[in-house]
Amino acid sequence: MIIVMKPHASEKSIQAVAKYIEENGLQVHLSQGEEVTIIGLVGDKSKLSTETLTIFKDVDRIVPITESYKLANRKFHSEPTTVKVGSTSIGPGNLTIMAGPCAVETNDQLMCIAKAVKTAGATILRGGAYKPRTSPYSFQGLEEEGLKYMQEAGIATGLATICEVVSSDAIEAAVKYVDMIQIGARNMQNFILLKEAGQSGLPVLLKRGLCATIDEWLNAAEYIIAEGNPNVVLCERGIRTFETATRNTLDLSAVPVLRQKTHLPIIVDPSHSTGSYKYVPPMAKAAVACDADGLMIEVHNDPAHALSDGPQSLNFQKFADLTDELAPFCSLIGRTFKS
Ligand code: PEP
Ligand code: MN
Repeated sequence: MIIVMKPHASEKSIQAVAKYIEENGLQVHLSQGEEVTIIGLVGDKSKLSTETLTIFKDVDRIVPITESYKLANRKFHSEPTTVKVGSTSIGPGNLTIMAGPCAVETNDQLMCIAKAVKTAGATILRGGAYKPRTSPYSFQGLEEEGLKYMQEAGIATGLATICEVVSSDAIEAAVKYVDMIQIGARNMQNFILLKEAGQSGLPVLLKRGLCATIDEWLNAAEYIIAEGNPNVVLCERGIRTFETATRNTLDLSAVPVLRQKTHLPIIVDPSHSTGSYKYVPPMAKAAVACDADGLMIEVHNDPAHALSDGPQSLNFQKFADLTDELAPFCSLIGRTFKS
């Protein structure tokens, strides 16, 4: 439920309503717009009298929220959220490009990719140190060593860094080295991991599960925010369908659907969704055209010899060409990048 206060409601009226809610054992979440303050409440509402709330001074109306996710809900927080990641941010007005290898392989490899993606306009370096591979015999990642390389590459280039985490140990290590953690598609409903990510203090990129509906995905985001971490970014990375021509099916309609349902920033990953470097540029442009807040793109110095996801990785030239080609799409939609 949310309580919409009258335009320019006084601080005293807002506090009086908040106090009444808290006295009834519920949590208060304030969303202060330029004119209107929205008071969101979470918890067991059975003890609360909605009738009583309407008689408080400056209360305009009470709107029930039927969706099970509240803190991630746009009704709770009408302004779009901007999430700060290291020295950059993800949200309205700019296009954030996260780029880098699927997996961190060596220090030299990562350093040279970091420099190339930075030159081409990326502001966040991605690289997997813990790889949740389909086969147990595939390369599983360098773990903490890989995180150290991420930190070194971040310091050397000024890029912010993001790395996937797959366990509590990985979160504990990641907090020491990177600016943002990623919960991968395979862990989207690992509720214990989501709660730990919520307690980590780092911003979280939450990828959509392979077969997750948008509502399930938003409920997963709610798990993180409910732990006191509002810095959640959603990443559409394709879903399983009957189609086999691409690795997954990129559900771009998720972007406008999410805009209606949530205030959280939205990133699109054309690499894992298509599975082929050939389809990455057109889908990246389509993602910008439908107003995504950013892109996550796999880039490798030598895709043919990459230890994972080589076929969908762009080489340096293709990545630089793509970022050049994205510029007009950004200006059409009113976003800036490569400043
Ligand atoms: C990744 O980003 O490297 C990854 C494994 O992605 P996803 O979880 O979307 O498959
Ligand atoms: Mn990958």
